[in-house]
Amino acid sequence: MYEKVLTKDINMPESRKLAYYEKVGGYRSWKKALKEMDPDAVIELVKASKLRGRGGAGFPTGVKWGFVPKSTDKPHYMLVNADESEPGTFKDRLLMAGMPHSTIEGAAIGSYAIRANTCYIYIRGEFVREARILEEAIAEAYAKGYLGKNIFGSGYDLDMYVHRGAGAYICGEETGLIESLEGKRGWPRTKPPFPAIEGVFRCPTIVNNVETLACVPYILERGAEWFAGIGPESGPGPKLYCLSGHVEKPGVYEDAMGLPLRKLIYEYGGGILNGKKLKAVIPGGSSVPVLTADEIDVDMDFDSLAKIGSMLGSAGCIVMDEDTDMVNTLLNIAHFYRHESCGQCTPCREGTTWAEKVLHKIKSGHGTMKDVDLLYEISGNIGTRTICPLGDAAAMPIESFVRKFRHEFEAYVTKEVEVA
Ligand code: SF4
Repeated sequence: MYEKVLTKDINMPESRKLAYYEKVGGYRSWKKALKEMDPDAVIELVKASKLRGRGGAGFPTGVKWGFVPKSTDKPHYMLVNADESEPGTFKDRLLMAGMPHSTIEGAAIGSYAIRANTCYIYIRGEFVREARILEEAIAEAYAKGYLGKNIFGSGYDLDMYVHRGAGAYICGEETGLIESLEGKRGWPRTKPPFPAIEGVFRCPTIVNNVETLACVPYILERGAEWFAGIGPESGPGPKLYCLSGHVEKPGVYEDAMGLPLRKLIYEYGGGILNGKKLKAVIPGGSSVPVLTADEIDVDMDFDSLAKIGSMLGSAGCIVMDEDTDMVNTLLNIAHFYRHESCGQCTPCREGTTWAEKVLHKIKSGHGTMKDVDLLYEISGNIGTRTICPLGDAAAMPIESFVRKFRHEFEAYVTKEVEVA
């Protein structure tokens, strides 16, 4: 039986306050890190916990921290990625609004581990309420000596700032985020150099997702073995799952990594809205390959979803019932990625525009069978040779929707579907 961790004590609005957070054990891990551990010991502990990033890529967090050079005359930076721009994803928002100090404590521990004295929480512009809550929580943490100069007499200084973005999907990509934080257009950078070597202000930088950092205080408090023992060995720990679309009870649900997708939809979500049948599920935010109703007997973890050709992504699970028009849904998704493409790479800039045009043509009843094949071709070429993963993010839904629901695209061509 899984016991909740990340959301157990969320009880808004009280849980936003420092006094409440301290009462439920908050900042004990921060004190422990500063008083009992050196930065490398923190990194080794997080490595041993097998924590993997919760933002989408799933990279091992401790390993990432270990890439920051130990001896350098440049300052180091910790950036918290609170952009949460993947459609269908709203878990970080809950953490920031419900218990902002867990993000702050995790970010502080991460900053200490990578020897950073400055931490920015980069939050999407639309999250006005969450930005305000974080700013109030940071002010409380400074007042109590958890942030600032010579924290707990350790000689370690840490400043933390909230930086609001302008609401661009691409600023959720770490180098796009870095450019935006520097006051420039959010254009992803070519890599290498990777941010751990040359990030914000050309200094060593780590970018971590909110949920990833919120896990860290619990790892210090309960141990790496405890964390590694929750869920699958290759990517364990507590996990937040976002459930939206045609379900009776949408929301954010916490369980162990590896929660069966069927359980998420039918037990947590209460089943399909209005007793309808399930048609399809996007398990990890709109950019990952869609699953059919026959593919939902799978565990929600990195490896299990990869094995059936999809991804855990941001665990933003979007449920579609039997009445969903898959052509219209894909057109909606394609429109989003076309709009959010930053335009630097030709395959992404031209491919997303072209795919949207072809989908419009099919949807309006003017498409041909060749156009359905053309969508495959376009998707196969978008994701190659691009600077950032948005190319793949745009291509994967197109390929999977057309492959798995081809009959619906063909029905528009043969006029079996009435065109509105
Ligand atoms: Fe910009 Fe798309 Fe290239 Fe990413 S893949 S850098 S979003 S054009």
